[in-house]
Amino acid sequence: MLQKYVGDGKMDLLIKNARIVGRKDPNDIGIEGERITKIGKVSGRAPKTIDAKGMLVSPAFIDTHIHLDKCMIGDDIRPNVSGTLQEAIEIIWEKKRKYTVADIVKRAGEVIELAALNGTTRMRTHADVDTIGGLTPIKGLLAVREKFKNIMDIQIVAFPQEGILRDPGTEELMRKAMELGADLVGGMPHHERPYSEARPHIDICFEIAKEFDADIDMHVDETDDPNSRSLEYLAEKTAKEGYQGRVTAGHTCALAAYPDDYAKEVIRKVKLANINMITNPVTNLVIQGRGDKQPIRRGITRVKELLAAGVNVTFGQDCVNDAFYPFGKADMLEVANISAHAAQLTMPDEIETVFEMMTTNAARTLGVLDDYGIAVGKRADLVIIDASSPKDAIRRQPDRRWVIKGGKIIAENTSNRKLKT
Ligand SMILES: [Zn+2]
Repeated sequence: MLQKYVGDGKMDLLIKNARIVGRKDPNDIGIEGERITKIGKVSGRAPKTIDAKGMLVSPAFIDTHIHLDKCMIGDDIRPNVSGTLQEAIEIIWEKKRKYTVADIVKRAGEVIELAALNGTTRMRTHADVDTIGGLTPIKGLLAVREKFKNIMDIQIVAFPQEGILRDPGTEELMRKAMELGADLVGGMPHHERPYSEARPHIDICFEIAKEFDADIDMHVDETDDPNSRSLEYLAEKTAKEGYQGRVTAGHTCALAAYPDDYAKEVIRKVKLANINMITNPVTNLVIQGRGDKQPIRRGITRVKELLAAGVNVTFGQDCVNDAFYPFGKADMLEVANISAHAAQLTMPDEIETVFEMMTTNAARTLGVLDDYGIAVGKRADLVIIDASSPKDAIRRQPDRRWVIKGGKIIAENTSNRKLKT
């Protein structure tokens, strides 16, 4: 656990009248350097004081699942006519061959700046690793991480978007991506053909992860097909390899298509293996269920059942204006709103949980929980929202008036909306 920080008593930033998430009365927050040193009724002066005027102050948001290498290509590619995952993957091939580091830095930078303005200071991004784009997406995102380090902490996942066994050469590229500086090993087992290669795919991911002592974050069963059952194997493998708590599974749409008994058993194994789950309703609401007549399935994983089982669940933006998804503005309050709709999380306690999914739960997924939150000693990554409560914030997605990262104000927003009556 983090030691309590004892500063020299000279505050650099003081936030007055903050309605801290989870606390009743307004408090002041004193910050020295990059850390919170005081909470309560704080006297004294600081070079910079913010009067939050009772606005909601939350730990800054975390986006646990995004594809920054692909973002903002949506206006340069043909539209996804079928709306499916497969067509989206194929549309990108031509574009991906022409990616350059500079082009990725420009597009990803646009989204990172938007995300920071919207109160996000940490992200986990996937970077395609395959024989089409080679190592360009990884190199691009490594450059992005360096360029924007003052406004965003970025974890990079080496992601075999085209499969590993069906795209010979990818396994070697995955190792090179890890050597270059990727943080986590990605995967996409359900994308192998024949499907029986899904298990060897997972085995290879674990081999690479162990070689680099890296954690794992895979795209798992992103399909409506109830026969896509790699999540169960991933959970078993995680336990067998002693990787509990180090593995994340994204999407897992097929879990919703499984018979209830089997789904319950898989969730039990997921919990035992302490796998972090990421649902991406923003994309999967539009990508999945495309083959259905009515009723058209929602295509998202079993969020409520996973939460009820005590599994750590978060959600991500996933895509911003690409072949998979035409919209997105890197705003976790918008993602929270859509996720609450998709997973039917509407009771007061469920709405609080939705807020936790992009804050505390997300910090747990990224492995940064020890240094996250509003408490003395923690790094001051905060967002001051012009809202009275988490529910109010998710409902209206109002201005993020100030965004603070490591004790520094990195964004200040005001929309100045006024009715002329
Ligand atoms: Zn994804």
